Amino acid sequence: MTIEDIDKEFFFHPFTQLREHQQHGPLTMVEGHGSTLTDTRGRTYLDAMAGLWCVNIGYGNTEMAETLRAQTERLPYYHTFASMGNEPVARLAQRLIAMAPGEMSKVFFGNSGSDANDTQVKLVWYYNNVLGRPEKKKIISRRRGYHGVTVMSGSLCGLPGMHAGFDLPLPMVHFVRAPHRLWEQQEGQSEEEFVRDLADELERLILAEGPETVAAFIAEPIQAAGGVIVPPASYFPAIQEVLRRYDVLLIADEVVCGFGRTGDTFGSEVFGVRPDLITVAKGITSAYVPLSACIVSAPVWDVIASGADKYGVFSHGYTYSAHPLAAAAAMTNLDIIERDGLMRQAKARGDHLAERLRAEFADHPLVGEVRGYGLLGAVEFVKSKDPLTAFDPALKMSAAVVQRARELGVISRALPASDSIAFSPPFVVTEDEIDEMAALARQALDDVA
Ligand code: PLP
Repeated sequence: MTIEDIDKEFFFHPFTQLREHQQHGPLTMVEGHGSTLTDTRGRTYLDAMAGLWCVNIGYGNTEMAETLRAQTERLPYYHTFASMGNEPVARLAQRLIAMAPGEMSKVFFGNSGSDANDTQVKLVWYYNNVLGRPEKKKIISRRRGYHGVTVMSGSLCGLPGMHAGFDLPLPMVHFVRAPHRLWEQQEGQSEEEFVRDLADELERLILAEGPETVAAFIAEPIQAAGGVIVPPASYFPAIQEVLRRYDVLLIADEVVCGFGRTGDTFGSEVFGVRPDLITVAKGITSAYVPLSACIVSAPVWDVIASGADKYGVFSHGYTYSAHPLAAAAAMTNLDIIERDGLMRQAKARGDHLAERLRAEFADHPLVGEVRGYGLLGAVEFVKSKDPLTAFDPALKMSAAVVQRARELGVISRALPASDSIAFSPPFVVTEDEIDEMAALARQALDDVA
């Protein structure tokens, strides 16, 4: 049996068209170096997505391998329940608090962005229970937002595909529009008016639900999976004004933006977000080992800590919370990013990516928008620019382009919510590799359009 046969026979793939998979089988990668992957047949691909927006330092980093070997020999695992600790995780928590924006106080560790956002909601609920406000539990999220796949974090997603078949979203989750200029900004509306419109929509929803029932608002600084939606500069300040007015906490989901993808440490710093809680994952270890974290502000922590009087033990945590291998990997990953100036490099490469994507795609009649920020880019396809008309979703233009680009040797990702293809390469990507990614993606469009 080939590895592909074994895969088809036994492996239940996540986020996969299961029937098609049974026919076509997997594309199995065996090796990676920098931004290049190699499959079982020896074919190489430029990974324009850094895996799933996460292998920021690139594949095959030997310093990470050495850290993992050394920590495995020293202490591969010990739990952190009931006041037990381990060295790498205490140091990582200290480092994250020093790096995080705003008045952050404590770090709770998990294993994925999904479980971290799930934890954030539990923290918010616990906080309001400690404060004696048991009715303040609703969460507001945004259309096109992506926050994970657990029952709660899947509910927080503003992507219909994440709910279908799973009886989601849970009823305490409500949605407002995304700041997606292409589709949401009315003709003749200035940016200021557009932002006001979005902030007013949020305020109307809070008032309609009753501010005493609304606990938190969750947002990615840049919506990644929803289409690389970059907000106007005044968006988050306007949104925050509304949230503060009604005592609604802000959870910044920095799973993609965190640790340099925007060119700054956190997307919150770029877009003026002042979060009460921050979710990180992916780039914290460049995905060499699973790790996520909830970074908790001092005022929220103070209330949660005082919950001991009412509830005793804080009964939440995972076997793998604060795993020493993951914490050691995160420390080395952050060392590499700082020492090699990879955040600055991400910004510079991002500027080059934006320029190449605009050059290859902006004038194409089927391209509605080329957008991005830092080392994040997207090209959105439309049936017509004037009048602006989307393709029939069944046509899946972005999926066709991504499929063809893969045959040409570039791995991009289709973002169906906005019929876009995404670019989020490792920070170590070279300018030549970016040129090739953009040129081959353009060739893919020409081949399928
Ligand atoms: N939040 C954001 C912004 C994400 O992009 C993702 C994953 O893509 C998640 C949360 C979920 O993370 P995970 O897949 O690690 O559960």
